[in-house]
Amino acid sequence: MLPKNRLILTPGPTMIEEEVRLALARPATNPNLDPAFAAFYREVCSKIQQVWHTASDVLVLSGEGILGLEAAVASVVEPGDKVLCVTNGVFGEGFADFVRRYGGEPVLVGGDYSRPVDPAAVEAALRQNPGIKAATVVHCDTPAGLLNPVAELGPIFHRCGVISIVDAVASAPGDPVFADEWKLDIVLGGSQKCLSAPPGLTLLSVSPAAWAAMERRTSPIPGFYVNLLEWKKQWLGEGVFPYTPPESDIYGLGAALDAVLAEGPAFSERHRRIAAATRAAVRQAGLEVYPVEGAEANTVTAVVIPDGADDAALRRHLWEKYGVMIAGSWGRLAGRVWRIGHMGANARVERVLTCLLALDQACRDLGIPVRASLAAGFLAAL
Ligand SMILES: *Cc1c(COP(=O)(O)O)cnc(C)c1O
Repeated sequence: MLPKNRLILTPGPTMIEEEVRLALARPATNPNLDPAFAAFYREVCSKIQQVWHTASDVLVLSGEGILGLEAAVASVVEPGDKVLCVTNGVFGEGFADFVRRYGGEPVLVGGDYSRPVDPAAVEAALRQNPGIKAATVVHCDTPAGLLNPVAELGPIFHRCGVISIVDAVASAPGDPVFADEWKLDIVLGGSQKCLSAPPGLTLLSVSPAAWAAMERRTSPIPGFYVNLLEWKKQWLGEGVFPYTPPESDIYGLGAALDAVLAEGPAFSERHRRIAAATRAAVRQAGLEVYPVEGAEANTVTAVVIPDGADDAALRRHLWEKYGVMIAGSWGRLAGRVWRIGHMGANARVERVLTCLLALDQACRDLGIPVRASLAAGFLAAL
C-alpha cells in the first residue's frame, strides 16, 4: 500500500481530486455496445472542445499523452516530407525524433531551452525551406517550464498552408489555448497534467485541413494504433470505436473536465496568480528561475539548482522527511533544475505553500544557501 497524505507537486502526473477519484469507480458497462457510453464519450469530447476553444473534431485515445504526439506525426507525415520542428525543449526535440522515425525531414528552429522561439526565425525558416508540409511546436515545454508563443505561430503556419501540430499537454487550460482563434490544426493534450486526472489518455483535436492532409497522402499511414484516419472512418463515420475505450479513465476525465468548466476563466487566473507568486518567492530567495522573464509557464516553475546543491539528495530528503515530491528534469536539464508543478489540483495556495515550507526546511537541513524563506515570499507575493 502506498502511503497517503503526501504532496505530489510535480508537473504531471498531479494530485487527483476526490470527485475524479470517485468517478473512476463508477459501475462499468460494455463501452463498445452501450449507447449510454457512446453518448458520454461524445460529451467528454465536446467539453474538450470548450476547454480548447475549438469546433474541430476531438478524440480521446487510449494511451498516455505521448501517443497523441506520435499519432499526429504518423498520420500527417509521409516519407520525404519536410516538417518544421521548434526544438527549444526536450519535448520539442522529441517531436523531431518522431518525424525522423516516420521518414520525414525535420527542419529545426531554436535550440535554447530558456527562450521562447522567435516567430521571425520561424517565418525565415519557412521562407528558406519551401514545401514544408507541417510544423510541430510545444506550448509549455515542461522540462524547462517554458512557454512558446503559439498564439503568434499558429497564424503564421496557417498563412503558409502548413499543418500545425501543437503539444498543449502541459499548458491548457492553466495557460489557456484558443485553438481556432490561433488557427491550430492539431492540438494534443493528456489526462494527467493540468486536468489532473490519472495518466493514460491522449486528447486531440483535428481541423478539417489536417484531415484533408491525411487523406491526400500518397502512402498509407503505417500502423493502426497511431492511425487517426481509422478513428475518422470508424468512430466519426460509423459510431464504432476502433478498439475498446478505457471506460473508467474516461469517467475520471469527464469529472475533471466538469471541474474545469465549472471554474471558468478563474481556472487560468488561479494558475497565473500562483505561478507569479512562486517565481517571486524563488527570486527573492536569491535563486534563479530557468526561463527568461516573460516566457515562464503558468503551470510549472523551473528553478536553477544552486551551485553545490545535490539535486537527487535534496529531492530524496524532501520526500522522505517531509512527504513532498517535486521533480528534477530531463535531457540536458537533468541535474540543472528543480521543478515545482502548480497545475490543476496542485495550483492551490495551501499545497504550494506547504511545498515551499518543506523546501525551506530541506534546504536548511542540507546546508543549501537560500537567502530568504520561499514560503514567506510566496505569501507576500500572492
Ligand atoms: C507530460 C508531457 C507529455 C507526455 O509525456 P510523459 O512524460 O510521458 O507524461 C507530452 N508533452 C509534454 C509537453 C508534457 O509535459
